[in-house]
Amino acid sequence: MTMKRTQLAVLGSTGSIGVSTLDVVKKHPERFQVFALTASSNVQIMAAQCAEFCPTFAVMAQETAGKVLQTLCAENGLTTRVLWGAEAIDMVASHESVDAVMAAIVGAAGLMSCLAAAQAGKRLLLANKEALVVGGTLFMDAVRQGGATLLPIDSEHSAIFQCLPQDPADWKSRVDKIILTASGGPFRTRDPLTLCDVTPEQACAHPKWVMGRKISVDSATMMNKALEVIEARFLFNVEPDRIEVVIHPQSVIHSMVQFVDNSVVAQLGTPDMRGPIAYGLAWPERIESGAAALEFSDMQALTFESANSADHQARFPGLALAWQVLAAPSGSTAILNAANEVAVAAFLDRQIRFDQIYRVNRSALDSVTFSAPRSLGDLLELDRQARRFCAQVVASLAP
Ligand code: NAD
Ligand code: MG
Repeated sequence: MTMKRTQLAVLGSTGSIGVSTLDVVKKHPERFQVFALTASSNVQIMAAQCAEFCPTFAVMAQETAGKVLQTLCAENGLTTRVLWGAEAIDMVASHESVDAVMAAIVGAAGLMSCLAAAQAGKRLLLANKEALVVGGTLFMDAVRQGGATLLPIDSEHSAIFQCLPQDPADWKSRVDKIILTASGGPFRTRDPLTLCDVTPEQACAHPKWVMGRKISVDSATMMNKALEVIEARFLFNVEPDRIEVVIHPQSVIHSMVQFVDNSVVAQLGTPDMRGPIAYGLAWPERIESGAAALEFSDMQALTFESANSADHQARFPGLALAWQVLAAPSGSTAILNAANEVAVAAFLDRQIRFDQIYRVNRSALDSVTFSAPRSLGDLLELDRQARRFCAQVVASLAP
């Protein structure tokens, strides 16, 4: 008997997670068929992916890129239909032929397509943490109302999902806390007073993971972990004070759950995103991922450090913002995300210093006023408002 293949849409297919996803898919041609690929502007990579996977649709966010891709696909004799624009991305994410959507766009730009997939009841593989940080409970409501299956791809959240009891109704009475591990990034032992000298190249050179530039900078500031605390709060519906961060430089334990009897369940693996991607693609089954096995007999010590030491608080002031925005009115997480996206882009563009990323985030939280967002429209307006404010802050800081 032949199994019906899962029809997959990969949003952000040219990025780090997108490429890793296609690498896993390639190992299982009997299971997965690529129905749609989407990307922002990288036409060369997209054209090669179209030639290899022959998707029904390929979408570029940018019109000029879309037109170039259309020509390239026609020259290669491909039947792929090429479209462009944000609405076309939402269209493929909710297309009736699609079973599963890999949401691997970076930033709040991925929110609408995530919601489109959620409302259409898809199996939604969420790498795009910013979308959940911005959307919060509205995002989770859309998942529930659409009857979608939300599976985390972020390695920490995939780990927690693997450690938790299968029935969510059992979580509350059994779980004491969720422990997110963090590598500490490239500046874990650096003198905090020298962080003002960090260059974009240094910030993007992560010791354990190869990733896109935005998340690499977030890992260096530990804003990535702050976003992940917020992500965990919404994904697993846990109170913020039950979420703890511990620094674990080897990145072997991807995260842990402590139960009420103080027993801890951890998930381990080599630092390779194809692990959590394969898990999300095949859940509840397991398939080959391409990630190497851990070699316990060769393994060095696994070490842990508090993220709350005075030194780490000076190095990573952004981490504590997670609990602050979760205690503040809803909408605050959207402001923090917008500020951080603007600040990281400005740092990568050499308009502000590394240590000023925190200043931008802090001042947006202190200064942007708003009333509680009730709809998606309210959230998007809040996101725009915070970005406008932060662009002014960046301009005032620029050297
Ligand atoms: P990346 O920068 O390598 O790739 C981003 C992808 O999104 C690209 O295909 C790009 O074309 C597309 N894109 C960018 N802006 C867009 C826009 N405005 N409209 C449409 N498409 C757009 O990023 P990445 O490292 O692959 O990360 C993707 C997401 O996954 C992020 O939210 C990140 O936090 C999350 N994540 C990544 C990793 C990792 O190891 N890379 C791990 C965990 C979570
Ligand atoms: Mg992560």
